Amino acid sequence: MEKIEGIVIKTQEYKEKDKLLWIFTRTYGKVSLVAHSAKKSSSHLSACTQRFTYGLYVFTWRNGLSTLRSGEILNNFNMIKTNLWKTAYASYLLELIDKGIHDGEQHPYVYEWLLRILQKIDEDEDAEILIRIFEMKMTEVFGIQPNVESCVHCNSCENLVGFTVADGGFLCGNCFVLSQDAILYPPAVLHLLYLFSKIGPKQIGNISVKQETKNMLKKILYDYLDRHTGIFFNSRKFIEELDLL
Ligand SMILES: [Zn+2]
Repeated sequence: MEKIEGIVIKTQEYKEKDKLLWIFTRTYGKVSLVAHSAKKSSSHLSACTQRFTYGLYVFTWRNGLSTLRSGEILNNFNMIKTNLWKTAYASYLLELIDKGIHDGEQHPYVYEWLLRILQKIDEDEDAEILIRIFEMKMTEVFGIQPNVESCVHCNSCENLVGFTVADGGFLCGNCFVLSQDAILYPPAVLHLLYLFSKIGPKQIGNISVKQETKNMLKKILYDYLDRHTGIFFNSRKFIEELDLL
């Protein structure tokens, strides 16, 4: 039996009373578990097996499907669970982990980030910016990090004026015409992309950014992930629907 710290990233009903769950852990990456009788509200496993819950989990380890014995909640993330906006943003984070990380892969650094960002969203900090930082960190996991330090064509760090999704990063004024999908962006947008790639989980403070800038960052990172991962993220639709309200 092992006691492991983790975050519930996905759940699914299983048989009559059981629940399947996927926990993202620092030590083992993603772990799939069966929680017997967890669907019953009277079960001691009912609360700790909800999506977004951060806790300590004791399970009998088996290759494939392990069995959850008990769980102790460290942070319930109540704000995330009860506020529709926060739920939508946090769902996207979990979907990035679920689809971007294979079983058995260990990513302690991503784990730190996920935990930190969930805490910040729960505490009411700007979820949109936090999501963008996480997307940037996930490009490392996917092995598709954009070049956000210098021009993708000539490597110059001077006169950076735009971004190319197809060629993967910054463009300088001289090379701008070389990328077919080149888009001009204000220096603030390019600087934030650079910052997102460099920042560590303990360094995030309150970043105040104009909505127009946020929209540009979203376009860049959505387009970039779409083009280079080919993954369809359902939870983005949930966010878009809320945007229209
Ligand atoms: Zn250049």
